[in-house]
Amino acid sequence: MSGSGASADVYVKYGGHGLRLNLDDEQIMIKDAVRDFAVNELPLLLEGCGEDPLAFSRTLVKTSAPLGMMGLRIAPEYGGTCKDILGYLIALEELARVCPSAALLVGAHNSLVCSAISAFGNERQKERHLPSLASGKNMGALAVSEPDVGSDIEGVSTTAVREGGGFVLNGSKRLITGAGLAGLLLVLARTSHENDTSSGNAHSLFIVDACAEGVSSGLPEKLLGMRYAAVGELFFDGVQAPSEDVLGPVGGGVNAVRSVFNEWRLAVASIALGIGEAALETALEYASSREQFGRPLLEFQGVSFKLADMRIALDSARLMIYNAALAEDDSEYGLAAAIAKLSASGTAVMCASHAVQIWGGCGCCEDFPPAGLYRDAKVTEIIGGTSEVLRSFIAGCMKK
Ligand SMILES: Cc1cc2nc3c(=O)[nH]c(=O)nc-3n(C[C@H](O)[C@H](O)[C@H](O)COP(=O)(O)OP(=O)(O)OC[C@H]3O[C@@H](n4cnc5c(N)ncnc54)[C@H](O)[C@@H]3O)c2cc1C
Repeated sequence: MSGSGASADVYVKYGGHGLRLNLDDEQIMIKDAVRDFAVNELPLLLEGCGEDPLAFSRTLVKTSAPLGMMGLRIAPEYGGTCKDILGYLIALEELARVCPSAALLVGAHNSLVCSAISAFGNERQKERHLPSLASGKNMGALAVSEPDVGSDIEGVSTTAVREGGGFVLNGSKRLITGAGLAGLLLVLARTSHENDTSSGNAHSLFIVDACAEGVSSGLPEKLLGMRYAAVGELFFDGVQAPSEDVLGPVGGGVNAVRSVFNEWRLAVASIALGIGEAALETALEYASSREQFGRPLLEFQGVSFKLADMRIALDSARLMIYNAALAEDDSEYGLAAAIAKLSASGTAVMCASHAVQIWGGCGCCEDFPPAGLYRDAKVTEIIGGTSEVLRSFIAGCMKK
């Protein structure tokens, strides 16, 4: 995926109405290519893999990599494919419109791992890992969450104890996207073993080979939504990690994860936007074709107002996401990304709920689109920072 620079007079209309966005040639090309892949290839992949998340995730990496999707957040000199964050976010939205699980897998690999290595890796680490991540020969996973640790990442208790020329890792991780599939793991572990962890520099990030001795994984979780993504446990039992595999400075792990989470929140926001757009599309189609009391549902005010609310909320979320993407190098990036994610995930849940309602009884059946969208949408309010944690963060920023 590559293209030329901005073309000032190209406007893309979203939703068949008047939201005009000035996308450049490359962004439009990515949008079209990913949409084509999502619409034509993903349903076949899902069918071929049955209900097996590991099989789907593996096949997705294999088929999307040649299109450049595994290198969307890697610079071209390391084999990457995309020059800016907006093109990447557009790609995630297009994937999510058809299969949110696919968008989650591609997003986690790119934002949580490729962006982390690009931002915090030294030249040797970038040259060693980025090309294989970009080509899809290797998939990445970021392992932060643990059985007792989620929102409060400074509570991570997996340990990395100095031994010889490196560290030895012990502990377990839970709910890791790509577990059992990813060959490269970024593992957050405690390197300071003092009681006081308030300084925020008690943890470090390690690049760990998933095939290293002492690393193992559990079975994929049976998820509420995003059911086709492999998300599961990882175990570290006396794993040797040489000092050269620390990503960024020793003690800089929490800062690195927080920084990477800004982009991850925008990625999740874009996935939520895709889910919301898909919900509106299916609700509008159904409301136009289904008749009750001798009229299409669309002609009942109670139904049409729902569709209007969906359109307005989706446009608002899209503008917040694109605005945040423009702030990528700005000190307000974290705040803009948190606002966009909170807005988009709430919008996705509202839109999916309205889609279920408009489909009525069929909306409750797994065979029709609204039920899956409803389950997928809920997940976006949890991953990348829960809605409560984001509200606290946004409120905290206003106090400064
Ligand atoms: C599909 C999926 C994929 C995931 N992928 C990854 C991954 O790749 N890597 C990874 O490391 N993790 C991953 N996770 C884990 C995810 O990051 C956590 O689930 C999330 O951060 C929330 O943590 P928790 O589940 O432990 O909830 P908790 O932190 O225990 O929170 C439980 C509830 O308490 C609320 N709460 C917590 N603290 C506060 C507070 N200060 N103020 C108000 N309310 C609060 C929360 O909002 C929530 O409602 C994934 C999860 C899912 C579901």
